[in-house]
Amino acid sequence: MTSKYNLGFFPTPLHELKTLSTLYDNYTIYIKRDDQTGLATGGNKTRKLEYLLQEALHQGCDAIITAGAQQSNHCRQTAAACAIANLECHLMLGGTRPDQFDGNLLLSSILGATIHFTGDNRKGEDIISLKKQLEQQGKKPYIIPYGGSNSIGAMGFVHAIKELKAQLSSQQVQIDYIFFASSSGGMQAGVTMGCEIYDLNTTLIPINIDKDETHGTALEQVVLDIIREGSKTLPINRSYTIDDIPLNKEYDEAGYGVFTHQENKAITTLAQKEGILLDPVYTGRAFYGMIDHLEKKKIPVNSKVLFWHTGGFPAIFKFTEALSPQTKAAYE
Ligand SMILES: *Cc1c(COP(=O)(O)O)cnc(C)c1O
Repeated sequence: MTSKYNLGFFPTPLHELKTLSTLYDNYTIYIKRDDQTGLATGGNKTRKLEYLLQEALHQGCDAIITAGAQQSNHCRQTAAACAIANLECHLMLGGTRPDQFDGNLLLSSILGATIHFTGDNRKGEDIISLKKQLEQQGKKPYIIPYGGSNSIGAMGFVHAIKELKAQLSSQQVQIDYIFFASSSGGMQAGVTMGCEIYDLNTTLIPINIDKDETHGTALEQVVLDIIREGSKTLPINRSYTIDDIPLNKEYDEAGYGVFTHQENKAITTLAQKEGILLDPVYTGRAFYGMIDHLEKKKIPVNSKVLFWHTGGFPAIFKFTEALSPQTKAAYE
């Protein structure tokens, strides 16, 4: 398997949520802490970037271009990774330049990235033109796709399943369901391949975050394409079809980055019961999806469930109005 460039602290912790398991007492709940990967406040993109930067350095590139929303956790972690690897970092972020930077946007800037604002295009539509521009300046840019989601980035999550499996066996725990936020598809593709390769027998419940398609392609298809590409070089014998790609779309109605009572309940519950912070865009939505499943017994009682915390903490500071006590009631 491909080698990686070390950027984070692994394995990330795996532990039980004891108070929450008392609250939802038909279930035992665990959490995998990829909010603690260590790269400039952590997050799941660190795992992908270890493989993507290795490839960029292997190709002799001296600059990275990637894209996302202004509050992109992927872009903030890419900026940090580039600082470590001494690569120039170009971020193409949707929208227009705000008067003041905050949350992930502020951190990306502090981490030294060059930030380009791309209007309505928040998923990398303008990457090619910037690449040409940099090449004309004599640079050798490496493109990391939206969310770091391709078969190279997904390797980080193939490896994460090996890591998880070792932790589960040393803690003598078996997990029936894994809940996580799925958005650009790289994590889901990697986790799916990892479960196959390392024979981890569990049911994935990926919670859809963004109801918009990426470049006109449904997320299930994006995940399937990454799996098919990855399968060419990995020990995977089965062939996947679109029906093999689960995606729960019960919680994405408000749209990407729109804060509702769901995220409010999730963030408040985990913070006040376990002292763990979720984010308003991804993990808040996915965690709500999980507790809704437990509350309504949508999965069999006595199941052991795992919430895979994928990070996103800095975006909290973009949602201070929604989360402040004076104004929070509107979201309850
Ligand atoms: C990117 C991200 C996800 C989703 O991972 P994908 O591989 O893009 O599907 C989930 N949570 C957080 C906090 C993220 O930044």
